[in-house]
Amino acid sequence: MTYQPQASHFVNGQYVDDADGDKIEVIYPHTGEVIATLHAATPAIIDAALDSANAAQKAWAALSGTERGRVLRRAADLMRDRNRELSELETMNTGKPLSETLIADPASGADALEYFGGLAGTLTGEHIPVAGGDFVYTRREALGVCVGIGAWNYPIQIASWKAAPALACGNALVFKPSEVTPLTALKLAEIFKEAGAPDGLFNVVQGAGPVGGALVTDPRVDKVSLTGSVPTGRKVYAAAADGIRHVTMELGGKSPIVVFDDAHLDNAVAAAINGNFYSTGQICSNGTRVFVQDGLYDKFVARVAERMADAKIGDPMNEATTIGPMVSARQRDIVENYIRIGQNEGARLVKGGKVIEGNGFYIEPTLFADVTDEMTIAREEIFGPVMSVLRFSDEDEAIRRANATEFGLAAGVFTADLTRAHRVAAAFEAGTCYINAYNLTPVEAPFGGMKVSGVGRENSKAAIEHYSQLKTVYVGMNDVEAPF
Ligand code: NAD
Repeated sequence: MTYQPQASHFVNGQYVDDADGDKIEVIYPHTGEVIATLHAATPAIIDAALDSANAAQKAWAALSGTERGRVLRRAADLMRDRNRELSELETMNTGKPLSETLIADPASGADALEYFGGLAGTLTGEHIPVAGGDFVYTRREALGVCVGIGAWNYPIQIASWKAAPALACGNALVFKPSEVTPLTALKLAEIFKEAGAPDGLFNVVQGAGPVGGALVTDPRVDKVSLTGSVPTGRKVYAAAADGIRHVTMELGGKSPIVVFDDAHLDNAVAAAINGNFYSTGQICSNGTRVFVQDGLYDKFVARVAERMADAKIGDPMNEATTIGPMVSARQRDIVENYIRIGQNEGARLVKGGKVIEGNGFYIEPTLFADVTDEMTIAREEIFGPVMSVLRFSDEDEAIRRANATEFGLAAGVFTADLTRAHRVAAAFEAGTCYINAYNLTPVEAPFGGMKVSGVGRENSKAAIEHYSQLKTVYVGMNDVEAPF
């Protein structure tokens, strides 16, 4: 089986390669077999990508917003037309079940392209009257060349969430996918080309940290948007600071879901299952600390365990499968280690906990109860299918403990008490909060983190602020006065 692309990179409208770059082996997580071999970008490839982005950007920004939007909307249509092909490729690369990728991955990317395609023609500045009949207007201008760096859990979605607002605002983008999942971003590049994007507007270069580092510090770059872990975020933010570059940071989390006694039990259980086991737990905003009030606690744990028996673990290409492998052997080992730490620190293992032997990178979805705040599994991002359930007694305690983390990506509350629901949502220190729902991320809504979980917002009109800048033009309508 091979999914070898034409070449490793897509630069200036074409596939290019440079065999001098470090080898990147792309692995199918279900079998462990190599499905493609690519090369990391050499300095020459990085140079060509940034030069072509620079060359394409000004003419693109000079088009009307409607013209730019048309290209994005055509790309959205092409992505939807190719949903199955793209979903299969995403499944081969990430191991996420096809039952997910068919509805969630290219679909979410296409939504972003369509939404920002629609917004492109509406972008404006302001007219601001000032004293004496003078006035000011603002021009909303592109930033220039943006760099996008992606994580491995939602490769085509992340690439699209960055490309759509960047291009809508008149920027060019050089995107570096995760070295673990480099394939579908190349397909997005093909789609943009077919949709009529000028050569050089959207480029894909492959590689690990060093390639990302070279992009982030290049003087041709005006903005950096990273989706990744907090440690990488710290490095990239610091590197971008030297050039005073704009940044968007979409980083990790350890999000709480707070379930009160009066909650609709089945809805809360379903949300906790989605918010811990979807994508085999590899989602940044997962609600991995589930706080359940005393009165519902035992029932909640029992119901989650009961429903976990229905998980269909196995071949991700089988559309009946609901839990696939972890993306890599490394990530599986990290998760296994956390499970061991959880047991050693005294959490009660209710279900799962074992690696599934074989060539694929499988681990059982795992439920821990009686977890306490100081346990490692309640403090650190695991990024795997591990749910921790913690007990609480009253609202103040739940809020205090939910917020007692350096992360602030998402948070959820389940209760039938409307006033309490809004009070708790207001008290959460998290960028995306849910009431009686969890982990839904429609393109119309801002998405991003507070505290160390991030800077800036993706999706929604808010993203426009992060991919454009305002120029102020003061217009004098009077004779100019001087003191002498
Ligand atoms: P990671 O931080 O290891 O890598 C992310 C990307 O950064 C990769 O492309 C990597 O090659 C690149 N990179 C690494 N070092 C770099 C450096 N010094 N300079 C420039 N680029 C560098 O993250 P990962 O393991 O790929 O993904 C999992 C993490 O991503 C989790 O922490 C998860 O929470 C987070 N994530 C966040 C969001 C969000 O929207 N907030 C979404 C998905 C994933």
